[in-house]
Amino acid sequence: MCGIIGYIGKNNPTEILLEGLKALEYRGYDSSGIALKKDNNIQIVKCVGKIANLEEKLRKEELLDCNIGIAHTRWATHGDPCEENAHPHQIGKITLVHNGIIENAFSIKKRLEKEGVVFHSGTDTEVIAALINQHYHGDMQDAINKTVKEIKGSYALAILNEDENKIYAIRCESPLILGIGKDEYFVTSDIGAILKHTNKYVLLGENEIVELTKDGYTITKDKKSIKRKVEVSNLKSEDASLHGYEHFMMKEINEEPILVDNFIKKYINNINDLPDLTNYKCIHIIGCGSAYYAGMVGKYFFEEDGLKVDIDVASEYRYRNIVYDEKTLVILISQSGETADTIAAMRKAINHKVDTLAIVNVDGSTIARECTYKILIEAGREIAVATTKAFIQQVLVLSLLSYKINPDDKYLDDLKQLPQQLKVLLDKTGFYKKLADIIYKQEDVFFIGRKVDYAISMEGSLKLKEVSYIHSDAYQAGELKHGTISLINEGTIVFGIITDEEIKDKTISNLEEVISRGAVPIYVGTEESGYKNQIIVPKVHKKLQPLLVVPTLQMVAYYVAYKRGCDIDKPRNLAKSVTVE
Ligand code: GLU
Repeated sequence: MCGIIGYIGKNNPTEILLEGLKALEYRGYDSSGIALKKDNNIQIVKCVGKIANLEEKLRKEELLDCNIGIAHTRWATHGDPCEENAHPHQIGKITLVHNGIIENAFSIKKRLEKEGVVFHSGTDTEVIAALINQHYHGDMQDAINKTVKEIKGSYALAILNEDENKIYAIRCESPLILGIGKDEYFVTSDIGAILKHTNKYVLLGENEIVELTKDGYTITKDKKSIKRKVEVSNLKSEDASLHGYEHFMMKEINEEPILVDNFIKKYINNINDLPDLTNYKCIHIIGCGSAYYAGMVGKYFFEEDGLKVDIDVASEYRYRNIVYDEKTLVILISQSGETADTIAAMRKAINHKVDTLAIVNVDGSTIARECTYKILIEAGREIAVATTKAFIQQVLVLSLLSYKINPDDKYLDDLKQLPQQLKVLLDKTGFYKKLADIIYKQEDVFFIGRKVDYAISMEGSLKLKEVSYIHSDAYQAGELKHGTISLINEGTIVFGIITDEEIKDKTISNLEEVISRGAVPIYVGTEESGYKNQIIVPKVHKKLQPLLVVPTLQMVAYYVAYKRGCDIDKPRNLAKSVTVE
């Protein structure tokens, strides 16, 4: 979480940093701040809330006329989202911004306080500034190296030292890249923040120190010089504009048909480019949030193919005692490829010497780089914090992997129709708005389904709660009567996801059980149901069906959030790229 950008070059950094922060806002947005440096002066401006607040505050300040600066948008882990806790933090000569968590911050802070250091915030970050300041006796590389040996946890840091016209940066487990422009240099958490200025970047290895001056950069590890390749990103900066949509979430949902179409065209005659899962005795699928639910959809596909599949959320998997078969493939699903828990799960698998497959959106990300195999989902930049198009592309990849195991003509025929069918479904905006009308005043909403319909229910429920803040839960349809049915009241909305032909009648019975207890059902299926509220999608091959159902639930979630006046693209407390544990 959190976004970092630093600039050094020939221009004034303020606008560049502000623009960059706006592009990084998806990574956290509870507070933000900027530090500008001219000669020995460092000016810090911070405030609570979105970047727009910082922008307004900066307009009222007299700012240093300079060409060095660092900036940060925060997703608090330690300490409230208040101005004192916003970054940059300054102790002595050192000013820095941080993404990550310092796990031993508390004990270091106690020790430093005894030694007389005065802290001004409740963050873990401030101890890093204090340590570098303490270790600094004229050699910043030394001070940083000594500091990172003392701290435990994850960090990406951009650092200023009052004495030098430089930016130092270092990372461990949190993302940070070096951007190379024409006579100007950047450090940033995400290339998207600097694309207006350059598409050239360098990936930084763990604990390598990059030292930027206005004339160039060096990368060193333990004072030894390191050469790293300059990469060129093919992303475009206009990916970050709304193109007439009111929200990125709606824009991104509407990109789904074209993305699906492109992906199908790329792989349909090149299915052998995808790995063959039948080489493995056991598949583990790991993800967090929606990526986990995409994985759950995949689990049902692969089980139909006769594979042994285990699935878990990354934050559990990383700490479980996993018994690996030597022929295990671990599939890691992550939009950003930088999800901290998923990275840890991946490294656990790598340590056990089993193969790993990355299903990610961002090429060059840690997960994309370190897995045995990678499949890029090619969703383009996703800006809305709640994922939509990336989820669909993840499921499409899993569906194609399954098709490769069990090729079948019906699948191919249906696949070709899918983008057009999806487009038609998404165009029914008036229909989703009407459904939103009956949901937006609710306090609780439930989703039920069996097998793959349960996985769809989980994603439908997550989407609704994360953007609209309505409490929502999903259950295996048969499980409701073992407890949760006590929550069903007169008027409670229950979505019944009923696309699986074989189990359809069972789920309908469960829906009837809640209706008898006062629930208002919303039937989601492939054929007319007779229920008053229903979402009907075309019936397609069962390994494609979720790709038509989930987008309709995304639309409903969007319009419910819209009617409730929520901040749709930036829901409270969330961040897009979860780079802390
Ligand atoms: N742990 C730091 C804090 O709470 C950094 C959080 C972030 O990555 O935004 O301030």
